[in-house]
Amino acid sequence: MENKILVETSARHVHLTEEHIEILFGKGATLTHKKDLSQPGQFACEERVTIVGPKKSIPNVIILGPARTASQVEVSLTDARTLGCDAPVRESGDIAGSGACKLIGPCGEVELSEGVIAAKRHIHLTPADAEKFGVSDKEIVSLKVEGNGRSLIFGDVVCRVSPKFAAAAHIDTDESNAACAFGMVYGDIVK
Ligand SMILES: [Zn+2]
Repeated sequence: MENKILVETSARHVHLTEEHIEILFGKGATLTHKKDLSQPGQFACEERVTIVGPKKSIPNVIILGPARTASQVEVSLTDARTLGCDAPVRESGDIAGSGACKLIGPCGEVELSEGVIAAKRHIHLTPADAEKFGVSDKEIVSLKVEGNGRSLIFGDVVCRVSPKFAAAAHIDTDESNAACAFGMVYGDIVK
């Protein structure tokens, strides 16, 4: 397993600014920690919102903390079709000109003119992991996932290297379904 990388599936989720948290959940509201995620400091929250698109809404969407400097909605392309929203494939944080939607919380609504993306599949690595795998920050590699009856090699996987990360590849639910990558799944980096 030494050269294998954990493959985690990111379900649809929302990142919010402090301002938007207060609009959606009330004056003075902050996010309530529910569960730590694999990346240090990142956590799933108790709070939920509804994503509203021109076609349909998706209720009960999880929020990931901590608060950010820009709100961002990460959906699968299947979700984007359901909502009727644009969701360009982007790295997290790269939201200029991305899709629009409305968010509804228990205390208010927020119109996002941009921020809806389908996250570009990526691998989080520490500098030590990057050295072990022989890759560098922003390098594009492939990720081979097998052993589940739907073996798949994902191309266009971006490596992201930071001492703040833990080693894990992140794919969305469409990608996970395509490869049957359920449960504890490990993949190989292919250069
Ligand atoms: Zn990630």
